[in-house]
Amino acid sequence: MDQSLSSDLLPAADEAITDAGSAAPAPRSFLDRLFDRGLLIRTGVDGLYGRSGAFESVVEALDRLVSRIGGADGAEALRFPPGMARSSFERSGYLKGFPHLAGTVHSFCGNEADHARLLACLDAGEDWTAKQAATDIVLTPAACYPLYPVAAARGRLPEGGLLFDLQSYCFRHEPSLEPTRMQLFRMREYVRMGTPEQVLAFRELWLERGTKMMSDLGLPLAIDPANDPFFGRAGKMLANNQRAQALKFELNVPVNSEDKPTACLSFNYHQDHFGTTWGIHQADGSVAHTACVGFGLERITLALLRHHGLDLDAWPADVRAQLFG
Ligand code: ATP
Ligand code: ZN
Ligand code: MG
Repeated sequence: MDQSLSSDLLPAADEAITDAGSAAPAPRSFLDRLFDRGLLIRTGVDGLYGRSGAFESVVEALDRLVSRIGGADGAEALRFPPGMARSSFERSGYLKGFPHLAGTVHSFCGNEADHARLLACLDAGEDWTAKQAATDIVLTPAACYPLYPVAAARGRLPEGGLLFDLQSYCFRHEPSLEPTRMQLFRMREYVRMGTPEQVLAFRELWLERGTKMMSDLGLPLAIDPANDPFFGRAGKMLANNQRAQALKFELNVPVNSEDKPTACLSFNYHQDHFGTTWGIHQADGSVAHTACVGFGLERITLALLRHHGLDLDAWPADVRAQLFG
């Protein structure tokens, strides 16, 4: 991580921790300071971290805050484990757009001789994974992915459409030294299915609510048009198209730097993509449109730590009241 990034941002409400004894103290990166405080815990893999109790208390408080804001809408809460059926994953189209981010679960499928070879490889420091084979499970890439086949299996939507409340650990193979880009992180979502008007109204509502929520938490923000990181040359066209049609917006907060703010919430209109892919139909038989709002729970936590400091007890009273009150 660029060391200059930690200093070009606002009063970090937290003094830089310096290397004891060195003549010119080197500024610690934001990630290092999170490790120093034990808020995140190293595992040896970039983007794969343990979290302290204090960090988790913020994640849980944010989850509750989102529930309070969306609570009166009558969303149906569903929770899936962080893996989904490989068959559903294949059908979802994720591999067309994002083969580089996907994570699959493999397991040992050999016999005793293979087992002996595996242990020998391990001892010799060689690749022991040859006898690993794909299981029926892949890691969930976004909290809403396991939902669509379930919704489709229920038959036509009711007149008013449907609204779901989801939260899941998600996996994306995007190792990074930016603490905000993890490989395993939690995404809270609301997903709306119905007519184009219904799902666009839902997205408008959450653009307003998300903006209010984050500014009430004392975070500087901007809403910007965005695109997903589609793979390859064909992906460039998909990304341009997504922007041209204003299908994705992000709520960005400077966390790692002012120049490259971090998407903490995203607001996605899928048009009839998932409706067509999964055969989700409205009450009148036409293909359903869908939209989702996603909250990156670790990212919002990190944004709060960046702007209010690494000591939760020293956060502004009104911010603490909203989260822990
Ligand atoms: P980015 O452009 O930064 O990669 P994204 O467009 O991939 O973000 P979405 O796919 O819309 O993000 O995911 C929904 C939310 O999940 C994001 O708004 C963000 O808060 C969070 N998120 C996405 N990727 C990560 C990650 N690697 N680590 C932590 N949180 C993430
Ligand atoms: Zn989604
Ligand atoms: Mg991404």
